Amino acid sequence: MSATILVVEDEPQVQELVAINLEHAGHRVRRASSAGEAVTSIREELPDVLILDWMLPDESGLSLTRRLREDERTRGLPILMLTARAMEHDKISGLEAGADDYLTKPFSPKELAARIKAVLRRRAPQLADDVVEVGGLRLDPAARRVTAAGKIIELAPTEFRLLHFFMTHPERIYSRAQVLDYVWGDHVFIEERTVDVHIRRLRKALEPSGHDRFIDTVRGSGYGFRKS
Ligand code: CA
Repeated sequence: MSATILVVEDEPQVQELVAINLEHAGHRVRRASSAGEAVTSIREELPDVLILDWMLPDESGLSLTRRLREDERTRGLPILMLTARAMEHDKISGLEAGADDYLTKPFSPKELAARIKAVLRRRAPQLADDVVEVGGLRLDPAARRVTAAGKIIELAPTEFRLLHFFMTHPERIYSRAQVLDYVWGDHVFIEERTVDVHIRRLRKALEPSGHDRFIDTVRGSGYGFRKS
């Protein structure tokens, strides 16, 4: 599992500790020391997860969380709040503002890693390492392997990511623009018909086992993945 994580923390030592632990766990880390810097960083690149300190010099993490939840682009951004306070009512207001989870300082690197994994599993399952299995089709992210009834299906990296995304988000139709955002990352300037090309390749690879029928095309609106 490798995600891009933005760490927003004004205490240099805590920021360093969190960042180093996340990097060791294989994540890509971006850093900010204030709410203002965080907003700039998010504008440049939408991270997969935000680790947000409650007490920041320019704006509270709570208020920033509310603002992010109001913006369509950041509404679904997984947020893990950090705080030195351990009081129950603070925890509730953090969660009410839209944070996904909550970590009280001081915390162990192990605890941080576990929470990140839980948030990703819930909010961005295509970034987690869990094996996914649908109708005899099995995708193992850690081994980067796809099998159908035990037989290996060879996929190029983009088709692999595409299939992983669809298998973890079944029974919903995504527009080409949404597929680009989720699979290629936002702020990537690729023509929408590129999605069609990769879907075609993915279908072809799944054809021998008959799993190509799981990929739904809705003319004019996009693609989806059905579970049966
Ligand atoms: Ca702080």
